[in-house]
Amino acid sequence: GNKPGNTSHHICPYNSRVLMLLGQLEKMSADAMVTDVEMARQLTVKILHLIQTQEKTKKEVMSKGSSGMEVILASLEVSGGRRVGVFVSKGGTGLLLQKLITASKESPPSEELMLQLHSLLAKVGPKDRKFGVKARLNGALNVTVNLLKQNLQNTKLLLPCLQVLRVYSTNSVNAISLGKNGVVELMFKIVGPYSKKNTSLLKVALDTLGALLKSKTNARRAVDRAHVPALLAVYQDWHRNDTRQRHMLIRKGLLACLRNITNIKLGRKAFIEADGMRILYNTSTECLPVRTLDPLVNTSSLIMRKCFPKNRLPLPTIKSAFRYQLPHVPAGGPVAQLYNQPPGVDDVVDESDDNEETEADTENDTENEEDDKDHRTVNDDIETDLNKLRPKESQSRLFEELRVYDRFFVELSEDFQVRILMGFALNHTQATIPSHIQSPLLLGGIAARRVGGGGGSTGGSDCGSEGPEEEGGEGAVLEVPDTALLLPLHDPDLYVEMVKGTRSVPHYSEVAYPDYFGHVAPTFREPLLERVYGVQRSKIFQDIERLIHPNDILDKVIYDLDIPSCPVIDDDGESLKFNSQFESGNLRKAVQVRKHEYDLVLNSDINSNHYHQWFYFEVSGMRVGTTYRFNIINCEKSNSQFNYGMQVLMYSVQEAISGRPRWVRTGTDICYYKNHFSRSSIAAGGQKGKSYYTMTFSTNFSHKDDVCYFAYHYPYTYSTLKMHLSKLEALRTPQIYLRQDVLCETLGGNSCPLLTITAMPESTSNDHICQFRNRPLIFLSARVHPGETNASWVMKGTLEFLMGTSPLASSLREAYIFKIVPMLNPDGVVNGNHRCSLSGEDLNRQWQSPNPELHPTIYHTKGLLQYLAHIQRTPLVFCDYHGHSRKKNVFMYGCSVKETVWQSNINATSCDLQEDLGYRTLPKILSQIAPAFNMASCSFVVERSKASTARVVVWREIGVQRSYTMESTLCGCDQGKYKGLQIGTRELEEMGAQFCVALLRLRRLTSPLGLRNHQHLLDVESDLMETSPTTYVMEEDEPSFLEEVDYSAESNEEDADADDHSTDVFDNPVHLDQLSDSETNHRD
Ligand SMILES: [Zn+2]
Repeated sequence: GNKPGNTSHHICPYNSRVLMLLGQLEKMSADAMVTDVEMARQLTVKILHLIQTQEKTKKEVMSKGSSGMEVILASLEVSGGRRVGVFVSKGGTGLLLQKLITASKESPPSEELMLQLHSLLAKVGPKDRKFGVKARLNGALNVTVNLLKQNLQNTKLLLPCLQVLRVYSTNSVNAISLGKNGVVELMFKIVGPYSKKNTSLLKVALDTLGALLKSKTNARRAVDRAHVPALLAVYQDWHRNDTRQRHMLIRKGLLACLRNITNIKLGRKAFIEADGMRILYNTSTECLPVRTLDPLVNTSSLIMRKCFPKNRLPLPTIKSAFRYQLPHVPAGGPVAQLYNQPPGVDDVVDESDDNEETEADTENDTENEEDDKDHRTVNDDIETDLNKLRPKESQSRLFEELRVYDRFFVELSEDFQVRILMGFALNHTQATIPSHIQSPLLLGGIAARRVGGGGGSTGGSDCGSEGPEEEGGEGAVLEVPDTALLLPLHDPDLYVEMVKGTRSVPHYSEVAYPDYFGHVAPTFREPLLERVYGVQRSKIFQDIERLIHPNDILDKVIYDLDIPSCPVIDDDGESLKFNSQFESGNLRKAVQVRKHEYDLVLNSDINSNHYHQWFYFEVSGMRVGTTYRFNIINCEKSNSQFNYGMQVLMYSVQEAISGRPRWVRTGTDICYYKNHFSRSSIAAGGQKGKSYYTMTFSTNFSHKDDVCYFAYHYPYTYSTLKMHLSKLEALRTPQIYLRQDVLCETLGGNSCPLLTITAMPESTSNDHICQFRNRPLIFLSARVHPGETNASWVMKGTLEFLMGTSPLASSLREAYIFKIVPMLNPDGVVNGNHRCSLSGEDLNRQWQSPNPELHPTIYHTKGLLQYLAHIQRTPLVFCDYHGHSRKKNVFMYGCSVKETVWQSNINATSCDLQEDLGYRTLPKILSQIAPAFNMASCSFVVERSKASTARVVVWREIGVQRSYTMESTLCGCDQGKYKGLQIGTRELEEMGAQFCVALLRLRRLTSPLGLRNHQHLLDVESDLMETSPTTYVMEEDEPSFLEEVDYSAESNEEDADADDHSTDVFDNPVHLDQLSDSETNHRD
């Protein structure tokens, strides 16, 4: 609009006067003959005056009690930087710097002109991104430094000079050069010792020093001259004397210097030697009650964590406690790498990380003027090779070879009619039902969970759990909760039978109560846990206390899979008892660190040395009314939903036998943070100096003599699956065609079930058989990642719905033939792995060329799909169910060439792309009907790192356009009906059922015209076509929370000082960082 009164009209004349004066300034500089100091001085005064008169009223407010110069500066500040912006954009900085050089050549230089020039530069500098570079190239650094050195007692001149120096210092190259010229020492001279005189000078000097100390050379210089103890002493003085908290910025500035010095190893060493831990711990503890001092506490905590001597994980090796001998070990594969290390090599910690000392010497002090060009975050994982986005004419296996899969597709075969008449079809169901079901074991007493030796399928245990179980005594009678009505697929006796046929690497012989009793989802809501401010900090302080008060630490090993006598029997009644030697259990070690606090270590996936995240263990021997703290200390991921409202799951046996058999969300004071246990470069993908993360939670127990279980998510064992599949048979009606086959055996000797579900043909007439045979196929799979138990609960929902009696379910069966592999990685599930199979590999990265021996379930599942492609029966939909540990809601990943191209830098016009939008239909329908599903989280981009996942391979090689990964949150929802709630098995099962309903709608949208005359469905469809592409979904989409400070405590990382969110440009060096040269910011 051209509205009158637009403020820019008022500003214009002023701006043009600035420009006019600039013109004069330029003319003067261009004319080498003119060196009239007086003229330059007058001109500078005019510019200052002009700026001064712009904002009269505000200026007057600000000028109260100020000197003239401060008024000018203040008025420049009030103008919001617009005039300064004009000044900078028209080259004012360069002219001023040239003027400075010229003026400095006068002998003696005019003090007043120097003062004015520095005042102007101090104003202009922060607004000019290239100020540091320009100053250096013009030779201005030395002018200012010399002026400073000669006028240390001249406060009036000192302040603007320091202010300019502060801006110079934010440029990393300048910082090194200034350090060489003794500016670090100069700043230390101004900073100490403690005095309340001239605090404004002190503040600027501290900011400058802080910026200079970001350079490793400068930090080292400060250490060499013993400034670390000096800084600590000054900080303590300010802490003691600043009782009214008026000098926060000075105290913060001192900490910022310490923070930067301790970025180098020598600095950390000096800090420890100067008793820095105790000093900062004590001062912080005293600051804690005053909320406004939080920034001090946070920065102190950051420094302490950085300097905390790295501890060794209490393990002999990070290799899994169990090893599985593979039929053959591919050279160069992960297992070969794992076990080919020479004996005696310590894989828990690196021998040294002394590579830092040379780092300081080679510090880069050359300019890279170009580096601010490309700071856009381009995701380089997006597939940009168009050839890899085109369908792959795969080197599929020969059809002769694929014919072995005939037997899994009886319903598609020509002679099916004959078979059905002869009553063959249904007899295949025997396959996964164990042939050796005996009469149920008598399960009296609390020893019930020990399925001792009898089954014949289990060998001796590695950890000596042979003997009879004493706990519980003779008299204890275990009431098995009667859940038959609530849990139609659950049967404790059947579960025990199933366990007997399950093969685990450690030869487990026990059954965990929760799997035996079953889980009845609670009817109450379980909201996301609200995070209490300061939890992380207080946990970290407790960790630091381990160092400050080492005598308080018990360090008592309670449970240890690495020793033969596990579990450690020590019945002094002072410690909890732990156990995880049952299916899907994962706990390697438990160490009692304080009376009610335990450090827990998780076991790596078998034949691997990492991938732990999933946990499932038993605790007993607890006291009622005591708060216990548990720390899982070897977590690997850099962030977790435990920071965003997720709680752990707990199952109480006492509750179960009182009629409430269920997992409930539990735990307070939950948080996830980087800890002080070092991670070897072997475990950190070659990177040195990394740490593990701690997931900590606290809880109370409400029953004496209870046995409780904790898990990462609702457990769902392989034996549970077998039990559910067996019980599904009972849901069969004459109308339902259900067949269960064994697709193959796993490496560990467990069978991988394959289900076929559809409706029986209406009759044996040719037409009906034909309709039956020609139904489109839906191919589903789940649980390739054992730690993603939620995927199994979603799958259970799908299976139960498909076997249901509702009209929707029968329509669905009549519409499709379902092929389902409900557990792609039974071995991983059985053995408590998080990610891998027994081959030590992520099976969802093997789809491009699965090895029949090492990845049989993938090899044969892909074989089924290749077979279908060969007989021209490519499935309409392929979907692999997963769980997502870092996001909320349920969502899908699909594959679209167009959306991939849009997200990448490929010139889209150079390739004429035609793509059916059909891949969006199913997720769109789901977002309309499933409350947990969120379209906004879906992505249809093909990533390079995902090239060998089921989704991408089935899309590209098999040619399934609707090929998906469905990700369910482990945490909860932040939209829809379940917003603010944690997810439970009811919601997960509902999701599985809604997936089926969505398929029915999809059928109506994709089938011949006869089925499509429903107007409302057409509306849905047109709506679907309009949707715009979603943005690429980054791995982590949670915002960092308020207590961000502690994430960046990695020793060698520059930390983003996130606790700064106040004060003006002058008092806040962070602002300066942002405003000045970009070259300071992106050096790593
Ligand atoms: Zn997964």
